[in-house]
Amino acid sequence: MNIRFIRLQPYSPEDNIDKNLLTGRLVEIFKTPVMWNSPVMIPQIAFDNYRNQYLGSYFLKDLLKFKKDNEIILGIVSKDLYEPELNFVFGVASPLTKTAVISTYRLHNSFYGIPENYEIFMDRVTKEAVHEIGHTLGLGHCPNPECVMHFSNSIEDTDRKSYYFCPSCYKKVLSSLGL
Ligand SMILES: [Zn+2]
Ligand SMILES: [Zn+2]
Repeated sequence: MNIRFIRLQPYSPEDNIDKNLLTGRLVEIFKTPVMWNSPVMIPQIAFDNYRNQYLGSYFLKDLLKFKKDNEIILGIVSKDLYEPELNFVFGVASPLTKTAVISTYRLHNSFYGIPENYEIFMDRVTKEAVHEIGHTLGLGHCPNPECVMHFSNSIEDTDRKSYYFCPSCYKKVLSSLGL
C-alpha cells in the first residue's frame, strides 16, 4: 500500500514542539507529506493510577479513529508511557495498523535534573518520531548505534544516535514507501 501522508496527532496537554522543524525533518527523511491534526484529549482510560503512567499500546488503537487507510499516524503525548513488564517506553508502534505514539516526557533534560536545552529536546523528539515511524514501515532494531533504528533503553542511547537511518535501513524505508 502506498503511503500518502504521515499524520501527526498531538494529545493535550501538548508539549512545546517546534512543529515546523519536525515537519521539515520528517519530509526530508520520508519524502512524504506531513499533516498535523488538531490536538485531542488524552484518553484517561489509558491511565494507570498505581504506576502514574499511560499505557502506550492503548494509543495504537485510539489513533485508528484519526487516520485513513493510506496513512501512517504518529501520536505525540507529553505524559509518561509504559508497557506491561517495562518501566517506561519512549514510544510504541504497530506495523500492522501503521499507528505509533511517542512520549516527550523523558526527552527533557529537566527530567534528568539538568538545565533544559531546546535544541537537544527537539533532536530527541525527531529521533523518537523517526524511530517509531520506521517501525510502522516494518523495520526492526538495527545494531548500528548511530542508526535511528538502534534500540534506545536510556536517553544516552537516544543521544548517541542520529535521526537518520543507516544506508541499509534507509533502503528498506524507501522500498516500503514505494520510492
Ligand atoms: Zn524500537
Ligand atoms: Zn540501521
